[in-house]
Amino acid sequence: MSTPKVILVTGGSGLVGQAMRHVLFDEKTELAFRAQPDEVWHFMASKEADLRSPEETEKLFEKYKPTHVVHLAALVGGLFKNMSHNLSFLRDNILINDNVLNTSHKTNVQKVISCLSTCVFPDGAGAPPDLYPLTEAKIHLGPPHSSNFGYSHAKRLVDVQNRAYKEQYGRNYTSAIPTNIFGPHDNYDLRDSHVIPGLMHKCYLAEKNGTVFQPAGSGRPLRQFIYSHDLAKVFIWMLRHYDDVEPLIVSVSEEQEVSIEYVVNKVVAAFQKNRAARNEAAGSDGQFRKPTSNAKLRAVLEKSGVNFEFTPFEQALQESVDWFVENYETART
Ligand code: NDP
Repeated sequence: MSTPKVILVTGGSGLVGQAMRHVLFDEKTELAFRAQPDEVWHFMASKEADLRSPEETEKLFEKYKPTHVVHLAALVGGLFKNMSHNLSFLRDNILINDNVLNTSHKTNVQKVISCLSTCVFPDGAGAPPDLYPLTEAKIHLGPPHSSNFGYSHAKRLVDVQNRAYKEQYGRNYTSAIPTNIFGPHDNYDLRDSHVIPGLMHKCYLAEKNGTVFQPAGSGRPLRQFIYSHDLAKVFIWMLRHYDDVEPLIVSVSEEQEVSIEYVVNKVVAAFQKNRAARNEAAGSDGQFRKPTSNAKLRAVLEKSGVNFEFTPFEQALQESVDWFVENYETART
């Protein structure tokens, strides 16, 4: 048997890390995405090592001796937390990313797949008219949206670092760029969460307390959402088959861009009871839209012959709501 791959998943306790664990070890998963006999997987949480610290990062790598890394750990938050903490998002994420990449290089990790975000892309305002749809080639064409510039610049730098590690040392370090993610094990904090988990929590409380479900903002912005289990499959595939420093957008197609109002209605439907009454005065909308192309993703998956289908949005949302309701007492609220 070949030497086993030792794969360290940073951010293993978060939304995407938990989805990877589920997909890899669930017997209902298609064989192509399940853990292989020559793979040893380690999922780490922040209590094991604070990746902002070079010493703790080195100790962690010394402990597990990874040959491969899926780098998910990040200071993550919704629009409101980003808007009020741009410096923290910038500094923490720069430190985390630099420590993970530098320690990977120093310990001869063969492959690193880091997780970026579509926030890295330039803001539409003032950008060239042909900016949309966003493609992998457009990351550095203009400044990101001002609301979360700290997080966005830290994430953009990972792409720069990957290219520098490739150029200077021939390293196979690359990144995925997912759109908005949702699924079980999300962060449901009412102030600091992303849009879907925030809506789910509000709707749940309105049901429980017999009050009106009042989503904030206009409901008009458009987004593409990806189910965490689908994203997990793409990470697993990338780890095994994707050997290119160029990043890969991981998104549903442009045709599946939906308004926040649509999402609100689907959340209401998934809870099967409550009705929403919009509160336009509360909260900011953020960027109006940032449609991304998944043409490259479809092309590389097709070329590798893998059978990959996105979970239909309503099914994914229902599974996420069911998980949240069942796990309310222990979920990150
Ligand atoms: P979560 O907030 O669910 O999880 C974040 C993970 O990072 C947790 O495991 C957390 O550990 C870990 N972490 C945070 N700070 C540190 C630290 N200083 N040292 C070590 N570990 C740390 O995030 P997601 O799963 O949603 O995000 C995964 C990746 O996906 C991130 O890189 C994020 O930027 C990216 N992304 C997320 C999107 C989304 O919609 N959620 C959209 C696009 C990209 P612990 O919980 O133990 O503290």
